Amino acid sequence: MSTVSVNTLIDRSVRNMGAVHAVVKDTAIEVIKRAYKEGIRVQISSGYRSNAEQQKLFNQGRTTPGNIVTNARPGQSMHNYGLAVDYFLVSKNGKTALWDVNKNWRRVATIAKSLGFEWGGDWSGFKDYPHLQMTGGLSLSQLQAGKKPNLKSKVGGSKPAPSKPSKAKIAEDGLWGKATTRALQQALGTPVDGIISAQSRNAVTQALISTVRYGNGGSQMVRALQRKVGSKVDGYLGPATIRALQKHLGTPVDGKISNPSLMVTRLQQRLNAGTF
Ligand SMILES: [Zn+2]
Repeated sequence: MSTVSVNTLIDRSVRNMGAVHAVVKDTAIEVIKRAYKEGIRVQISSGYRSNAEQQKLFNQGRTTPGNIVTNARPGQSMHNYGLAVDYFLVSKNGKTALWDVNKNWRRVATIAKSLGFEWGGDWSGFKDYPHLQMTGGLSLSQLQAGKKPNLKSKVGGSKPAPSKPSKAKIAEDGLWGKATTRALQQALGTPVDGIISAQSRNAVTQALISTVRYGNGGSQMVRALQRKVGSKVDGYLGPATIRALQKHLGTPVDGKISNPSLMVTRLQQRLNAGTF
């Protein structure tokens, strides 16, 4: 059974968070990373909620089916200001959500608090165990009046952290060689060996011609790449993945890698800049 990667947890969480404040987002990602180092797999289930979404949630258990899950009307939840996220734990393989408020759950709260979050599990009265928020000292009525919080990141810089660029820059020559594969693996957080898969040292060259098939369910790097660019995750570097990558990079979409290729040049530039 393979263990879910920290990047998968982060990718899913970023998707679920939506348009939260940049500091909230960076800090939530840092919580996921630190917990993961301790063997705790945590994921964010929700973040920013529009007023319409809040109304829908408020209606649940009142005028629509289900249990009551919130007492907050639109504009009354920190989620409506992008200042809150909710978390839960996941199983080792990343496939099952775990909702027990156990030692690990509380450990995540402790990590989050050390990074500036307030935890809903500490509230007197109604305890909201999945809930983490950062209000910058502002009250709900100040937020409702349009005040914006000045949040300070404890993660290191308040700017969204780009994925770390490799120390040595790679050539931006449009030719996909070992160095490009290495840099891509670094950016994707998969093992860095400069080889797309052990089965095929020459994978990209083959991809120039046609779809490449690998054994063992394909390449870990290609799967991470597919998750990143939003194509079907099968580990095979074929025309569909290349088209998705081209879309991601904003280069012409034809599903082919020419030699040299504008797509590869753009990929190399983004890897060097740490913005892939
Ligand atoms: Zn919440």
